[in-house]
Amino acid sequence: MRIAELHVYAHDLPVRNGPYTMANAKVWSLDTTLVRLVTDTGLIGWGETCPVGPTYQPHHARGARAALAEMAPGLIGSPLHPVALRRRMDGLLNGHRYAKAAVDIAAHDILGKAWGVRVADLLGGVATERVPSYYATGVGEPDEIARIAAEKVAEGYPRLQIKIGGRPVEADIAVLRRVWEVVKGTGVRLAADGNRGLTTRDALRLSRECPDIPFVLEQPCNSIEELAAIRGQVRHGIYMDENGEDLATVIRAAGQGLVDGFGMKVTRIGGLQQMAAFRDLCEARSLPHTCDDAWGGDIIAAACTQIGATVAPRLMEGVWLAQPYIEGHYDSRGGVRIEAGHIRLPEGPGLGVVPDDGAFGAPVFSAG
Ligand SMILES: [Mg+2]
Repeated sequence: MRIAELHVYAHDLPVRNGPYTMANAKVWSLDTTLVRLVTDTGLIGWGETCPVGPTYQPHHARGARAALAEMAPGLIGSPLHPVALRRRMDGLLNGHRYAKAAVDIAAHDILGKAWGVRVADLLGGVATERVPSYYATGVGEPDEIARIAAEKVAEGYPRLQIKIGGRPVEADIAVLRRVWEVVKGTGVRLAADGNRGLTTRDALRLSRECPDIPFVLEQPCNSIEELAAIRGQVRHGIYMDENGEDLATVIRAAGQGLVDGFGMKVTRIGGLQQMAAFRDLCEARSLPHTCDDAWGGDIIAAACTQIGATVAPRLMEGVWLAQPYIEGHYDSRGGVRIEAGHIRLPEGPGLGVVPDDGAFGAPVFSAG
């Protein structure tokens, strides 16, 4: 079974009640890229990659499509086995893992359909059918963020991520203190996500002024060097997110004890094959992590949930989805939904999500 056709689509995902605010960016609408692979046996698989704007990572939507266009002719005739496919893509284009991930996800979807199993079964086996999610607030004012936090705990979310950064650190400290007032004693786990936006000075101050609040500090500063500089001085666990660009960096961070866990994105690491390797490296060092993506619709949501379902529950920090922040679904019957802070693993085979006919209009380009 080989790739016979590759089609690429662009699709707009407006942010509900936008913008969504992070330390370095505000986003009103996201430009997502869908990949549809067709095999020589007539099976169809879907993949997706959707950078959350052009400044979150060194990724952007048109860059993803340019990378896919560069690789597309060379992918016709390629086998679908994930390791062989990754090597084929690496032989066609250096880097650009976030674009390659869409092809990898589509290949997993097809293999699941061919073998009659869910992608989670391909990736090692299902640890839970009910995958925990977490809710991320935007950067905001104390009372508003505390109101959202209380609401999401009541809905059943086991974890909250509070966005911080991009403003005076006093405002972030005030938000974390106010949130803790309303969630203390509920058992909800907390992360404070700086999205690279804090100086080491402000990260140290924030940690020292909140010693009683048990949050993990996610990607507070811009670089690995800055994380290393504050590592021995903070009172909180440090998670790496944006800096975890590839497996080599993950091995470095885990091996040198730079971090206590990761926020990880399926597309950033290169797709589900690389994500499964990441999961196993984390398990070998007892490092908790998320299984998310930056943004995206039902296809990326299904991919994140399928790998998330395979993670050892004690190390699972949740699958974040953009679904609560966007309107509608690609698959009007089997779209991925969060209920009571958890996601039911889609029924297979493959990803378990099939976009409605014509959901994305005509392809922006095709090969094969
Ligand atoms: Mg993060």
